[in-house]
Amino acid sequence: MIARVSLEIALRKEFDYSVPPGLTRQVDVGSRVQVPFGPRKVLGVVTAVAEESAQTKLKSIIKVIGEQTLVTPKVLKLARWIGEYYCCAPETALKSVLPEAVRKEDASWRERLFVRVLPHTGELPKLPKRQQEVWAIVEQRREILLSELVELAETTAATIRKLEDQGLVLITSEIAERDPYAKETILATEPLVVNPAQAAALGKIKAAMGGPVLQPVVPVVTPGTGESLPPAPTPGADPVPTPPAPGAPQSATTFLLHGVTGSGKTEVYLQAIAHALEQGKGAIVLVPEIALTPQTVERFKARFSSGKLQTLVAVLHSHLSAGERHDEWHKIRQGRARIVIGARSAIFAPVEPLGLIIVDEEHEHTYKQEEAPRYHARDVAVMRGQMEQAVVVLGSATPSLESYANCKKGKFTLLELPERVDDQKMPYVRVVDMRQAQRGDKGIPIFSPQLKEAITQRLERGEQTILFLNRRGYSSSLQCPKCGFVAECPNCSVSLTYHRHDQKLACHICGHTEVVPLVCPEKTCRNPEIRYAGVGTQKVEDTLGKLFPKARVRRMDADTMKRKDDYRATLGDFRAGKIDILVGTQMIAKGLHFPNVTLVGIIYADMALHQPDFRAGERTFQLLTQVAGRAGRGDVEGEVFVQAFTPFHPAIQFARRHDFVGFYEQELEFREQLKYPPFSRVALLTLKGRNEDKVKFSADHLRRELEKLLKPAAAASANVPASLFDPVGANPPGAPPPAEVDPVFRDLVIAGPAPAPLLRAENYYRYQIMLRTGAMSRLSRELAKLVQTLTFPDDVTMLVDIDPVNLG
Ligand code: ADP
Ligand code: ZN
Repeated sequence: MIARVSLEIALRKEFDYSVPPGLTRQVDVGSRVQVPFGPRKVLGVVTAVAEESAQTKLKSIIKVIGEQTLVTPKVLKLARWIGEYYCCAPETALKSVLPEAVRKEDASWRERLFVRVLPHTGELPKLPKRQQEVWAIVEQRREILLSELVELAETTAATIRKLEDQGLVLITSEIAERDPYAKETILATEPLVVNPAQAAALGKIKAAMGGPVLQPVVPVVTPGTGESLPPAPTPGADPVPTPPAPGAPQSATTFLLHGVTGSGKTEVYLQAIAHALEQGKGAIVLVPEIALTPQTVERFKARFSSGKLQTLVAVLHSHLSAGERHDEWHKIRQGRARIVIGARSAIFAPVEPLGLIIVDEEHEHTYKQEEAPRYHARDVAVMRGQMEQAVVVLGSATPSLESYANCKKGKFTLLELPERVDDQKMPYVRVVDMRQAQRGDKGIPIFSPQLKEAITQRLERGEQTILFLNRRGYSSSLQCPKCGFVAECPNCSVSLTYHRHDQKLACHICGHTEVVPLVCPEKTCRNPEIRYAGVGTQKVEDTLGKLFPKARVRRMDADTMKRKDDYRATLGDFRAGKIDILVGTQMIAKGLHFPNVTLVGIIYADMALHQPDFRAGERTFQLLTQVAGRAGRGDVEGEVFVQAFTPFHPAIQFARRHDFVGFYEQELEFREQLKYPPFSRVALLTLKGRNEDKVKFSADHLRRELEKLLKPAAAASANVPASLFDPVGANPPGAPPPAEVDPVFRDLVIAGPAPAPLLRAENYYRYQIMLRTGAMSRLSRELAKLVQTLTFPDDVTMLVDIDPVNLG
C-alpha cells in the first residue's frame, strides 16, 4: 500500500511513501503521519492511498499519530478549496484545519492514577494506623484520584500501594478529561416560547433542515391573570433522534438573520440547534473571539449540556490550554460532543454529520484570518454548508454589505427580527454638530454642552453612562506649534500617541515607546512649548475627572485591560453599579447588556470615516449602530449623543434613524459606481521589504507581469493612481473592454502599485496592487501560477490577500 502525504514544511508538493505492513490498518486518508524527509523526520497528512506509485524506491512511513484519522475527508476537501481560493500552499491550508494541540505530538490525553475500592468479603485485615486512616477515606469515596488522596490523608503513594498489596484497592491509570468549564455550575434552561417573528424565522430554517417541522410552542394564557404558563416540554428537548420525515430533504440553504440587538437571535440559534440534534446531526456555532465570554458559552451549555439533554458542548478558543484544546477537539472527533462553539477556526471542527452552522455577528472583521491562510470564516462556513448539505445561518444586527447583497441576488435567504423581544423602543439618537462647539481659540472641547448636560442629568438620577472613543492613549500626537515637528515612530509611518499616565510616547502599530521630550527635539527649534493634539480615552477620562469630580469613572481599553480577568472584573463592577461612567474603545461596543445604562455618548463619530478604505462608511454605520444599541436596555428609554464634525454624512444620518435598508441602498449605489465589493471581489497584493526602492521596483515589475498574464484587460488601466482608492486610475466603469480580452477577466480592474495607506510598518515599506474582478476563483488560480514563477529580490516578499478586510 502507498500513501500520498502532504508535508507540513512548505513545498507545494505531495510525496509518496510506502505503508509498512504493520501500519496498513491505521493509515487512511486524513491520517497524521511521521515520515522521513532527507535526514529529517517531518509530520504530514495522508491525502490519498493507492496500490502503487509512479515512483520507485519509496521510503516508509515511520508512524501514525492518533488512533483515528485526524482530518476527515470532508474537512480535507474544504482545506483544498481554501488553498485554491485563498491562493496559499495546500500544506498551509491543511495545517490550519487542526489545532496545534492536536497536530503536534506532545499534547495528548492526560492519564491520571485513580484509586478504587475492590470488593472484599469477610473481615478487614488488621491494618497499621496510617493505612487505616487512608482506608477510611477511600472506602467512603469508592474512587478517588491518587494525588487527591495523598493530599487528603496526608500520606504518601507508598502507603496507598500497601493497601493495593493487601488486595483492598486497585490503582489504575485512566484518562482524565480536562474540562475548561468544570468549575462552573450551569442551570438547565428550557426553550422559550418564541414570538411570531422568531417563529417565522425558525420555521424557514427548520424547513430547510428537513425532517419534521415542529409547530412552535404557543403560550398558554391562563384566563383572567394574563400570565403565561410555562411552555409544554418541547419535542425539541427529546434526545432520541427522530428520523427525517419523508419528502423533506435537507438543503444547503444559507440564511441571513437580520435582527436588531436584543431581538432574540440567540434563541433562534438554540432552537435550530435542537432541531439538528433531533435529526441526529451536529452543529457549529461561530462567535467573534471577544464575544466568547463565559456567559455566551453558558447559554449554550445551559440549554444542551444540563438537564435531560446532556449533549456535550465543546468549546474551542485561544484561551484554553493546549491540553484542554486537545481534549475538546477529540470529544468532537469521537462524536461525543455534537455541538461546537468557538472562534474563527472552529469552522474546521470535525462534526459529523453536520446539520447546521451558525455565524453570529457575521459582519465582524475578526472572522478574517490575517495570516496565511487568509480565509474568511463566514465565507468558509457558507462553502462548507454547501459541501456538506448543511444549513448556514448568518446573524447580525448590522449585516455586511456582501451578505445583504447576496440576499438581493437570491443566493441567501433573508430572515428578519425587526423588534426587540421586550418591545423596548430603539434609543433616541441626537447628532451634535461639533463645528458649532468650537470655543474661539480654545479649540474643540471633548464634550459638547449638550452631552455635558446629559451626563449631569444621569449622575443626578443615578443612571449609568457609556462613553465611546475609538482611540486609546491621551493625545493622538505631539506637535511643536512653532516648527511643525510631529513625534513619529522610527519604524512605522504613524505619529506616536502620548500616554500620560506612564509619561511616554507609544506606537500603536509596533509597540515602540519613547520618553516624552521636554522641548521640541528639532535642533534649530528647541521650543519648550510643545502641544498635544487629538484626543484619546485617557484624556476623556481625565477631563471627566475635572468636569465631574464626584463621578466614579472607569476606563476600558487595551491599556487598562491587560490581564484576562480585568475585563470581567470591570464589567462586574459596572453591572453592580459601582461605576457611573464607563469610557472605552471598541471593546465596549459589543453585545453588552446593562439595564441601567440610559446614555451613550460617541465622542468623535467620524473618526473612522476618513480612513482610506472603501468600507469606512459601512464600518462607521455598524459601529454607531452597535454602540447605540448599548443604551436603554432596561425600563428607561435610552438616549444616544453622537458628536461629529460631518454630521450629515449618510453613515451617521442613517444610523441616527436606525435605517439599515436606507444606508445599504445608498452604499450599494456608491460601491456599484466604483465596482467595489459586493460588485466585484478584491485581491490585494502587497510587496514588502526594508528597502523602499527595491519594493517599488518589484511592485512595478509585478504590475507588468500581471498585465502579461491577464492581458490585455489590464492595458486599459495603465493610468497609475496616487492611491489605490483613487478611482481615476481604474478602468472607467462602462468603458468598452478591448476586443481580445479573455471574457472571464473582461471586468478586471488593476489599480496600483501605490504605497500602502500605512507605508511603513515595523520597519517594512509596503506597496500594493489591488485587483478587482467578478471571477475570483479564476483569478486566484492565475495568481497561484504567478506566485510560483515570479521572483523578487531576496528581501522583498509578496503577500496575497483574497477578499481582504484590512486594506492598511
Ligand atoms: P440577540 O441575540 O438578538 O441580541 P437574545 O437572544 O440575546 O437577542 O435575546 C435578548 C433577551 O431576550 C435575552 O435575555 C433572551 O433570553 C430574551 N428572549 C429571547 N427570546 C425570547 C422570547 N421568545 N420570549 C421571552 N424572552 C426572550
Ligand atoms: Zn511603530
